[in-house]
Amino acid sequence: MVSPLLANVALNGIEEIHQSIRYADDMVIILKPKDNAEAILDKISQFLGERGMKLSEKKTKLTATKDGFDFLGWNFKVQSNGKFRSVPSSDNYKAFRQKVKRIVNNSNYGAKEKAEKLAPIVRGWRNYHRFCKMDGSKNSLVHIETRAFKVFNKEAKQNRYTSKKLLDLAFPSVPYSENKHINVKGEKSPFDGDIAYWSERNSKLYDGETSSALKRQNHTCGYCGLKTLSDEKVHLHHVDGNHNNWKKNNLLAVHESCHDYHHTSKTVR
Ligand SMILES: [Zn+2]
Ligand SMILES: [Zn+2]
Repeated sequence: MVSPLLANVALNGIEEIHQSIRYADDMVIILKPKDNAEAILDKISQFLGERGMKLSEKKTKLTATKDGFDFLGWNFKVQSNGKFRSVPSSDNYKAFRQKVKRIVNNSNYGAKEKAEKLAPIVRGWRNYHRFCKMDGSKNSLVHIETRAFKVFNKEAKQNRYTSKKLLDLAFPSVPYSENKHINVKGEKSPFDGDIAYWSERNSKLYDGETSSALKRQNHTCGYCGLKTLSDEKVHLHHVDGNHNNWKKNNLLAVHESCHDYHHTSKTVR
């Protein structure tokens, strides 16, 4: 396995071969009907071969874009006007809703604590998808917000007014502008900037082990699979429960809320 950072260095220049979207060692190559897919894949195999790498057969798929494909938590599809459109992928949306639900329904937290825990998670998710069309029912959080309001309002010290205030705190809105991250040339995408920003921030915030676990995991939480690109804290989890075992394969970087859930749900069972 190549580390994402190494892969990034080694793969620089691969974008010259054909129009593509890439993040670390994940890449989508965009083919037009007249393009020769095999020839392009051959060139890419050759490029990788020269650098001692191989195309992962498991991960290489040829898909018609009218059927859409998932990449980095987004679902891309070609619209009738020929342009790409992206929305959060259903796996991403599901994982995110589950995270939110776990916090809303967690009886260990009061309403205020829930709202404070939800805010960075919701902001991070909306920010991650800020280049997607986020209105309409599909990506709306209306149901979960309604549920959260009911749960907040049930608490004796809350009323409709304070519950609404907590709801606004818990579900901050983030303006979106559709389609900015597609049709970006070469290796530059707004996402690269995000990764650079969060990597730097995380390596300042976290010690060596957490920050190298984050790099190993491509900045993805070991539990929910969502990116760790938000203000939500990252914890270092010891897989075997032994806090003296610092072997790399025993260390997992996970979101704070995912970590809490993992440990509390174990003791409950
Ligand atoms: Zn997580
Ligand atoms: Zn743990």
